[in-house]
Amino acid sequence: MTGASRPLVAGNWKMNGARAGAVALASALVDRAAAEGGLSCDVLVCPPAHQLFPVLDVIAGSPIALGGQDCHARPDGAHTGDIGAEMLGDAGCAYVIVGHSERRTGHGETDSVVREKAAAARRAGLVPIVCVGETEAQRDAGRALRTVEDQLVNSVPDGAGASNAVVAYEPVWAIGTGRTPAPGEIHEMHGAMRRLLAARFGPDAATLRLLYGGSVNPGNAAEIASIENVDGALVGGASLKAETFWPIVRAFHDDSSPT
Ligand code: PEP
Repeated sequence: MTGASRPLVAGNWKMNGARAGAVALASALVDRAAAEGGLSCDVLVCPPAHQLFPVLDVIAGSPIALGGQDCHARPDGAHTGDIGAEMLGDAGCAYVIVGHSERRTGHGETDSVVREKAAAARRAGLVPIVCVGETEAQRDAGRALRTVEDQLVNSVPDGAGASNAVVAYEPVWAIGTGRTPAPGEIHEMHGAMRRLLAARFGPDAATLRLLYGGSVNPGNAAEIASIENVDGALVGGASLKAETFWPIVRAFHDDSSPT
């Protein structure tokens, strides 16, 4: 149940697929969006970098937005293998994921690096989706809230607000595992995040979109969408097929549609 005017359902395609499959998936999503005749949530796909331009060609003029999966803090320069936020903007992106746990763990990204990347995204006119989330050991030790609050304080740049930032709560132990927190645990975490952001950023934080991510699928999306302060989803595995991604989009569309 969202505090934001429009929830956001974002598909993180990670390092999967080739151009032909990406184009086919994007086309299927465009077709499904057209069949809805209007959506009350925003829909985003974040393909691998080499698929950005072909996917942009397919989604142009549709309600589906394009995002990157990561960006460098610098706009350009000697950073082999990286991509700048301005480059993602040049490729048609409106959003970029920063601080995903696979970047924090696999590439040693600290909160301060994530914060610089989020600031770079804003500099380039992109909306950063700043990911936070505790490991299983941190949850078992009773440190889930404290961990996420620390990440929020240190990863979200100053000046964040509803129009220029999104936060995704992704418990590391729930990503790609088929396991999710209990609805009450998501409720507790999202409420704590909302309070912390409101204390730092004021009333605008009431509508800053807080996504839940971690094993969202067509079977659990409606229940997750109904949780207070859940303003959308960041979806990995289930975003790789239209048949599994679109029911998640519909769950958030239904939850925010006037009844
Ligand atoms: C993710 O990696 O952001 C994610 C949420 O993955 P999955 O949906 O596969 O758990």
